[in-house]
Amino acid sequence: MRYHRVAHWQCLKRFHDLQLTQRLPRVFGSVLIAVLLTGIMLAGPCSRKRSIDDRDRALIARTYVLARMAAERGDNPFGALLVSEDGEILREAKNAVSTSGGANAYKQHAERRLIRDSLVLFGEQALRTATLYSSTEPCSRCWAAIRRAGMPSVVYGSSARGMQLARGREPPGLEPWKILRWLDPRTELIGPVAEDEGREIHRITWGRASDE
Ligand SMILES: [Zn+2]
Repeated sequence: MRYHRVAHWQCLKRFHDLQLTQRLPRVFGSVLIAVLLTGIMLAGPCSRKRSIDDRDRALIARTYVLARMAAERGDNPFGALLVSEDGEILREAKNAVSTSGGANAYKQHAERRLIRDSLVLFGEQALRTATLYSSTEPCSRCWAAIRRAGMPSVVYGSSARGMQLARGREPPGLEPWKILRWLDPRTELIGPVAEDEGREIHRITWGRASDE
């Protein structure tokens, strides 16, 4: 009996010496986080992303035409489209930051103008089934407007990183809002599409602006 008590005590002491009481919660926490992250990656936005097709390429080509038109009138080179479920272009918009400007210039981004006008013209329900096509990956503020409108999908041409590189700028690191966007399954984000052409528009337009 005495032998058993000694063995039991030695076992507890060994358990304590290995610091398992401190380590176990940390190990359990790490395993839990790994399982959750794996689950999100398997069930999240990555697994549901559809492939880019010819219709996407044709519609992004149209946004590039709009971006060039905006640049020609002195605005920043961005264009956006509202496209119905059956592929019909319902509305077009160009960036108007320079020509309309004002205190809140971001409200003149092509995507914001498109959503604002489309809500008046077609109502909330139309946006909940439509796709927004944008010549460049939407910024955080435009993404917030897209989410508020409940749009199911966005297709973009040039990536934001590609735009910054084309402008000769250092692209920002991983931004927290992009992690939240990636984790949000409510709006599918598809792109880049024909990125080289999109970058070239930025390179030419911003290069011209800096020469003036
Ligand atoms: Zn924007």
